[in-house]
Amino acid sequence: VAGFAGRVVAVFGLGKSGLSTVRALQAGGAKVVAWDDGEAKRKEATEAGIALEDLSACDWSDIAALVLSPGVPLTHPEPHWSVKCAKAAGVEIIGDVELFDRTIRASSTGARIVAITGTNGKSTTTALIGHMVKRCGADAQVGGNIGTPVLELDPPKPNTVYVVEVSSYQIDLAPGFAPNVAILLNITPDHIDRHGSIEGYAAVKARIFANQTAADTAVIGVDDDYSSDICTVVSAARVQRVVPISVGKTLGRGIYVLDGQLYDSTGTQTQKAGDFRDLRTLAGAHNWQNAAAAYAAGRALGFPREKILASFESFPGLAHRMEIVAERDGVRYVNDSKATNADATSKALATYRDIYWILGGKSKEGGIETLTELFPRIRHAYLIGAASDEFARTLEGKVGYTRSQTLDRAVESAANDAEAAEGDLRVVLLSPACASFDQYPNFEVRGDVFRDLVLKHLSERASA
Ligand code: ADP
Repeated sequence: VAGFAGRVVAVFGLGKSGLSTVRALQAGGAKVVAWDDGEAKRKEATEAGIALEDLSACDWSDIAALVLSPGVPLTHPEPHWSVKCAKAAGVEIIGDVELFDRTIRASSTGARIVAITGTNGKSTTTALIGHMVKRCGADAQVGGNIGTPVLELDPPKPNTVYVVEVSSYQIDLAPGFAPNVAILLNITPDHIDRHGSIEGYAAVKARIFANQTAADTAVIGVDDDYSSDICTVVSAARVQRVVPISVGKTLGRGIYVLDGQLYDSTGTQTQKAGDFRDLRTLAGAHNWQNAAAAYAAGRALGFPREKILASFESFPGLAHRMEIVAERDGVRYVNDSKATNADATSKALATYRDIYWILGGKSKEGGIETLTELFPRIRHAYLIGAASDEFARTLEGKVGYTRSQTLDRAVESAANDAEAAEGDLRVVLLSPACASFDQYPNFEVRGDVFRDLVLKHLSERASA
């Protein structure tokens, strides 16, 4: 990290990104004072050789900047004490994405940054663009909110494209962030506690476009009201190039998907640019939004249309997000363990028919009531975990169900039922609409167990 050599920088929050921030600042010659409110985090940091200093008791007058971990409250419900100290001393408050952006720009290598934000689809779109960049022959460095912290990515080369997922928290802490391509997929109510209101949340998301210049591109989903309003405002300012994205609407100018066909009307004429209907790992209208955004980014980076589309076909998909685990004899096994609420599950249910649905866990407010209109797509449901009674009441009289209790029993019954049934494509789907904490440490473990159970079932059947 450039710009802080010989100066003192405070780092608050010593998770994965905090630790990488400390190392990057030290490598750039800064003197770092670091702290975390959690004792376990402090112990880990000490073991990693990082000197701690209680920032609540130190002198803030020689500190040049406070680098905060995303998630530490800036305003809501009230500012964290470190934020109050920094503000009182007039110290700038930033995050690792800001440091990263300044460093890449100072390098003058020609490396470019693609940033992705939105309520849903960030990780999928980020991974897809990373894959596309690689397949188009450039050096892809993928990180941010997904996986590797930005300050741990490789240093820039002239053909490097940094593909970074940024949460609204990270945008909040990156006042100068100026990505070459900035993508806002969608905005729906989520995480509004930190920003106070959905309007506040939308305003933060819009800030991803605020520092772009004429050479940059803004890719904006226009299928929800908040993003659509942001698109109107950004377009009216006539600074950067704006590419609106839609699934289901024809756009006079932009990139859109109708019935699975991709259209590009960014030039003088509307062109049929591709066909998304057979993309196995990007199935469903929500994934077409992600793919349309990736296409727009690829064009903005100057990649040829054919190479971009070919890369979508070879995209392996992300684990736990409608991940196709296996397909045999007309039965597809899909791991959507990441779907921890009804809204996320609705995307999976809307993608398939003839579904053998495994659901349950620790339920969220509202349960699965909102999914009722998708129930005709379900052939049978298999209930696991703590939400079984609640979900059984919602399914009663509408969908046949079995109280499987555990995932291994659910997989066994669902697989046997689907195999014995008729139909072109039957789908055994784990899309729990619930948190996993009653039975598993996190959604990843739950999804891994599902995958293992499916593969074990199939291998036993093959050898039987
Ligand atoms: P994020 O990183 O924003 O949480 P992911 O790519 O991990 O998003 O996808 C999480 C879940 O959100 C998926 O399982 C899917 O159900 C849903 N999803 C993915 N893309 C979209 C989209 N563009 N719009 C709405 N929902 C989506």
